[in-house]
Amino acid sequence: MTLASPSPASALPAIGVDLGGTKIEAIVLAPGGASLWRERVATPAGDYGAILSTVANLVARAEAELGLAGCSVGIGTPGTSTHAGLIKNANSTCLNGQPLAHDLAQALGRPVRTANDANCLALSEATDGAAAGAPVVFAVILGTGVGAGVVVNGALLSGPNGLAGEWGHNPLPWGHATEQPGPTCYCGQRGCIETWLSGPALARDHAVHTGEALNAQQIGTRAAQGDAGCEASLQRYESRLARSLAHVINLLDPDVIVLAGGVSGLERLLVNVPQRWGEFVFSGGLKDPVRTRLVKSLHGDSSGVRGAAWLWRG
Ligand SMILES: [Zn+2]
Repeated sequence: MTLASPSPASALPAIGVDLGGTKIEAIVLAPGGASLWRERVATPAGDYGAILSTVANLVARAEAELGLAGCSVGIGTPGTSTHAGLIKNANSTCLNGQPLAHDLAQALGRPVRTANDANCLALSEATDGAAAGAPVVFAVILGTGVGAGVVVNGALLSGPNGLAGEWGHNPLPWGHATEQPGPTCYCGQRGCIETWLSGPALARDHAVHTGEALNAQQIGTRAAQGDAGCEASLQRYESRLARSLAHVINLLDPDVIVLAGGVSGLERLLVNVPQRWGEFVFSGGLKDPVRTRLVKSLHGDSSGVRGAAWLWRG
């Protein structure tokens, strides 16, 4: 089957689909970024064929209701792709080992582009979000896991291994003695950044120190009310995030770092982390202010689906 490429993204609205573990969301964006249509349905559990047909039905309905045809389709996927285009590391395990992009292209009658959730976030925020217009953007998800994506001059950086931005599985830098060797990570290593900076990691660290079972939001609320144990947990977290982002600044020197995901709801991070990262950003002993901006995502939970729509842009 020969697939015609979609029309240039500048001429037609663009369709984005965020394929999540519990829901599949589709959006149609006008060339200027306005949302024209949006729908969210439950992800068929454990049924690959049903997932394909659900995505195809969403695209067909969006185009029918808007009187469109042949829009570009970008898909935000869990996990990553192998060289052969097979999904791996997806939490929706029925996707693993499947040629998702190929099968969706067949189902939709047009090529599709795919990227993982952190890359879609980075593209969304760099295109028309909190980092719009910035030359180099590093966008971080601090959620159930920790991932990141890199956009340079409006284009997503991928790399020959598809790994650009997978900083969550680097070790926590400048680790303290009490942080060695660090928690075991599902990836097989110990002490990965994800094992310290995910939402569950913050909750675990707080429980270890206080015996209390609180989530990130609850820890933030209690700290604001003056709870010393919660305050100490957030200060440990802020130190770890500052060290981890200083590592990124030394390597990539992004203009803007965007925070998203559940833990980014702690607004104090935007103030406290830049106050701490200067100690670790390379300066040769001459303390120059760090110009990197740390901001919260503008589109929040919508960045995944919006970034998917922008995968054909440019
Ligand atoms: Zn890991």
